[in-house]
Amino acid sequence: LKGIDPLLYNSGPPSGRLWYPQERALANATLLALVRNSEADAMVQSMLDLERIFNLKFNYPWTFLNNVPFDEEFKRKTRAATKAEISYELIPPEHWAVPSHIDPQVLNASMHRLEDLGVQYSTALSYHQMCRYNSGMFPFHPALLKYKYYWRVEPNVHFYCDLPYDPFHFLADRDLIYGFVIALYDAPASVASLWPEVLRFLASYTPGKAPLINPNAAVGFLTDSHYRPLHTLNASGYSTCHFWSNFEIGDMDFFRSPLYQAYFRHLDQSGGFFYERWGDAPVHSIALSLFADKKGIHWFRDIAYEHIPYFNCPRVDSSGAEGRCQAGRFTNGDKTLEEEDCRANWFHYAGIG
Ligand code: GDP
Ligand code: MN
Repeated sequence: LKGIDPLLYNSGPPSGRLWYPQERALANATLLALVRNSEADAMVQSMLDLERIFNLKFNYPWTFLNNVPFDEEFKRKTRAATKAEISYELIPPEHWAVPSHIDPQVLNASMHRLEDLGVQYSTALSYHQMCRYNSGMFPFHPALLKYKYYWRVEPNVHFYCDLPYDPFHFLADRDLIYGFVIALYDAPASVASLWPEVLRFLASYTPGKAPLINPNAAVGFLTDSHYRPLHTLNASGYSTCHFWSNFEIGDMDFFRSPLYQAYFRHLDQSGGFFYERWGDAPVHSIALSLFADKKGIHWFRDIAYEHIPYFNCPRVDSSGAEGRCQAGRFTNGDKTLEEEDCRANWFHYAGIG
């Protein structure tokens, strides 16, 4: 797999009929951000970019989620960044709280063990809560129940090229359930026991008539760490490759499904969101690569995106992109960061090309 060049697969927008705003009603979708009051300016940066490349033409509603109430400054600044509707939503406390089965002493010891292993954010309790919330709770927020599709947006991300079609309709028309731009390896210590716990779930779960693992799933995406550099071995059989979830365009019904929820509850009961630092990205990616047809997962090759320090930059750049998103760019040139790219794993196992 080593050396597969994303540009080989990346020649601009996907082919086929693409829909422009004036031709159809909006899909049942929202632009979604879980964000803190202190990130108002960074959120506005992301909003202005996404409005410019896409939403000015469409006016999809924004939904902001927070574990504390949004303050007036956050509301004022974000309201000025869009003419679309905005909902400011508090997360139900029971969705955010550390579950009662988490032992504070074990938690404290685990945090320091991971800190010693160099795992980023391991001692920030709210980061663990955020990862757990995004893993399995968000689609049940009362304000999201009416929506099927979401586009997750984080503060301080950048979008560069114009997107002249509606990615929600793009998913809906093709029966796709999930879209990503960047796939990365994770820090193995943050998910050391995740894969064994997933295997325990698979062994314990009694499915209905349908097979538990989708016969068309891209399981190799999870297990092949063939070209991962030797100094960072995989995590107990999991390659650590995952769709980087600060960008997601997806169908919440997948995450609301009984199978996904049984999987999430099992992982949650095991304590790994707190005793390790399981991210929502590997948790989503593992489920998608086990329970979904790989044809239902889409690489948005044509969405030019940056979340520091990584880029997804398409070959065709219609907007000039202020020089930031040159075709094929993945990082600012840092060799160690370049090695974290595992999109080639996906191209291989999803049979793109
Ligand atoms: P990183 O991308 O992994 O470095 O993590 P971020 O700091 O960007 O956090 C991921 C997302 O969760 C961002 O959209 C943050 O605004 C949001 N987030 C993280 N922690 C909290 C929190 O405690 N409360 C709220 N409301 N949002 C949070
Ligand atoms: Mn971020």
